[in-house]
Amino acid sequence: MDLDQILSGLKTRWLGKDLRLYTRVGSTNDIARSLAQRGVRNAVILAETQSEGRGRLSRSWESPRGGIWMSLILQPDIPPAHACWINMAVCVAACRAISSLLDMDAKIKWPNDLLINERKVGGILIEISSDGPHLEYAIVGLGINANIDPSAFPPEWMASSLSYELGHEVPLLILIQGLLLELEEAYERIGGDEIYQEWRQRSVTLGRMVRIASNSGELVGEVEDLADDGAILLRTGGRVVRVLAGDCIHLRGVEGT
Ligand code: ADP
Repeated sequence: MDLDQILSGLKTRWLGKDLRLYTRVGSTNDIARSLAQRGVRNAVILAETQSEGRGRLSRSWESPRGGIWMSLILQPDIPPAHACWINMAVCVAACRAISSLLDMDAKIKWPNDLLINERKVGGILIEISSDGPHLEYAIVGLGINANIDPSAFPPEWMASSLSYELGHEVPLLILIQGLLLELEEAYERIGGDEIYQEWRQRSVTLGRMVRIASNSGELVGEVEDLADDGAILLRTGGRVVRVLAGDCIHLRGVEGT
């Protein structure tokens, strides 16, 4: 990765103009947070590898060379309670970039996984800091298995990579520039109906039989809908339950396959 090359072909108006590229970091989200605490906003942290990449609940996220490991420091003008709108916008932006640049059908598994052919090729982790009703900053972590051999990952992760699914390597530079452009566009429409509708349409969780483990226990049912606040509406035991956060396992396909 080369900073000047990324910047010279970048078509964004503002996102990525402050781009900080590292060869190896612990976690791009951690670097982003320490910068955010010092008042930095609208910066992008990009690393070639992470030694301590994280998913939700501090689960580890493998980040070998060949992937895109990126964090953004943003301050959208939304209430902290609507932070899931950021996740929606980032999911949509990442799918758009992958779909349009590589002609692949990128999908979203609720709440924060990017899938191609039902296999996980990326993930999103948003961490926010708020001061009462004000969002101080949001750290948007985005990891994409771009040019990675997924056979190194345990099979139960159902992980893959863009290069594996395509059968050839992907141009990292173009993908990074395209991602930043889509992220900028989606950011400016955060909370809008268009983002919500596309997030819903790109979902592979909608209509599926799932098992969701959340703080309030485990639920099994069919996903009847996805609400505009990011919640799953789960039909279970003759009623519909709202689930805002949790681990979701797809049990079978829409047609029961
Ligand atoms: P999920 O939303 O799928 O539960 P998390 O956001 O918790 O995932 O991310 C961490 C989990 O993702 C890990 O426990 C592991 O199962 C899986 N994982 C870790 N690194 C990768 C990777 N590079 N590609 C795909 N899956 C990964």
